[in-house]
Amino acid sequence: MLVARDTVVTIHYTLKNDAGEVLDSSAGGDPLAYIHGGGNIIAGLEEALEGKSAGEKLAVAVPAAKAYGEHDPSLIQQVPRRAFQGTDVRAGMRFTAQTEHGPRQVVVTRVIGDMVTVDGNHPLAGQSLNFDVEIAEVRAASAEELAHGHVHGPGGHHHD
Ligand code: ZN
Repeated sequence: MLVARDTVVTIHYTLKNDAGEVLDSSAGGDPLAYIHGGGNIIAGLEEALEGKSAGEKLAVAVPAAKAYGEHDPSLIQQVPRRAFQGTDVRAGMRFTAQTEHGPRQVVVTRVIGDMVTVDGNHPLAGQSLNFDVEIAEVRAASAEELAHGHVHGPGGHHHD
């Protein structure tokens, strides 16, 4: 079976940045299983896997625009400390901020005096990503999996 819309694809992967540092890997853990065609993994990787089959190995370079997006300077904002309502705000803390585009994860990057700098970019925004992928399995998704929007069983969701 080939990777196509509504197939469950199970992959082993290693993700590196352009400096060759490993950012994430399934090595030593469960492989990743996802439903293909629904935007469940980053766009550039999903496109590269289309039409492939179990046993294939791929090296995929995904530009930032098809990974976590370009770094957007407008998502870096200065917020007065009082907006955190008594929290002892420190660099590295994560918050969910309400924005005009809905809730968004932000990280505090700097605290100087009363001003707190927060960054709403994804930590991997602006980075091209390099995946080494081995396709372990390709199968049809069950009706239940399609209804839930996620994979059941190994590498996926486990319901009690
Ligand atoms: Zn489910």
